[in-house]
Amino acid sequence: MKRALLVSLAVLVGLMMMGTGPAPVQAKTTFVTIGTGGITGVYYPTGGAIAKIVNKKRKEYGIRATVESTGGSVFNVNAIMSGDLEFGVVQSDRQYQAVHGMAEWQDKGPQKDLRAVFSIHPESVTLVATVDSGIKTVADLKGKRVNIGNPGSGQRQNSIDALTAAGIDIDKDLTAEGVKASEAPGLLQDGRLDAFFYTVGHPSGAFKEATAGATKVRFIPVAGAGIDKLITEKPYYAKSRIVSSLYPGSDNKEEFIDTFGVKATFCTSVNVPDEVVYAIAKEVFDNLDDFKKLHPSFADLSKEGMLEGLSAPLHPGAEKYYKETGLLK
Ligand code: GLU
Repeated sequence: MKRALLVSLAVLVGLMMMGTGPAPVQAKTTFVTIGTGGITGVYYPTGGAIAKIVNKKRKEYGIRATVESTGGSVFNVNAIMSGDLEFGVVQSDRQYQAVHGMAEWQDKGPQKDLRAVFSIHPESVTLVATVDSGIKTVADLKGKRVNIGNPGSGQRQNSIDALTAAGIDIDKDLTAEGVKASEAPGLLQDGRLDAFFYTVGHPSGAFKEATAGATKVRFIPVAGAGIDKLITEKPYYAKSRIVSSLYPGSDNKEEFIDTFGVKATFCTSVNVPDEVVYAIAKEVFDNLDDFKKLHPSFADLSKEGMLEGLSAPLHPGAEKYYKETGLLK
């Protein structure tokens, strides 16, 4: 909790002068940082939305939330665990894997101190390719240059799962790149990538950028028998679809692009004080209508739905609020 315990004492100097005023007034501020993702994703504005709602009540709670752009879900879990971040947005599948000591946590083991606060918007495993590449299915990625996601991102494992389900070996069958999602649209437009994966809510700045340039691009369905099997095998994956009208610059004529997806979730550590987590859960839930206006991908959020898709134990501060309001029995 390096940063959480960085408690600043804001001393009101005016009141201290010459001992003539009342006793010094000290306001304690608790600074918390929310780890997000790249600035063209949805985590970054999501962290901003949470911070905005909570900071409105700064006088009441003494909490000052700030947002940090990061490499994504895996980075966020690890930074929460090391105490470098108090909160982070994390894909529901990555939360599950961290709690169970799978994927990037296989060697480190279960991340026992990870705590869930609530879930947020749905995220789709999204694949986009240049029209010139001729790619129309995941199987067509063979022999192509494809960004599967930077280490630290949530999407990297989703890309590997989708490719493996389609019988593609990332080490042999294609050139797998590991650049940040914020850089991928520019590389696609410049012809230095044929396609890229990004697991993200929609609409996102990244896909607006990818579909708005001179190079024609289209969304590719991540579907088929292999993917159907993957969804039945993995408890954290579900079918999902992208509304193509969100990106008028894309070459897609169909209304929806089929794929699979997860949920964005809000996580913290067992070491973050109950009253801080309570305040954040309360402010987001009590002001959910205002919160939902802060990003179009929040449109379908409901209080009940925001308690689904969590695999880490609920943080006691959040649990207290959900019990008080009858959301939890
Ligand atoms: N799902 C991505 C990740 O976990 C981030 C998406 C976003 O920033 O909106 O790395």
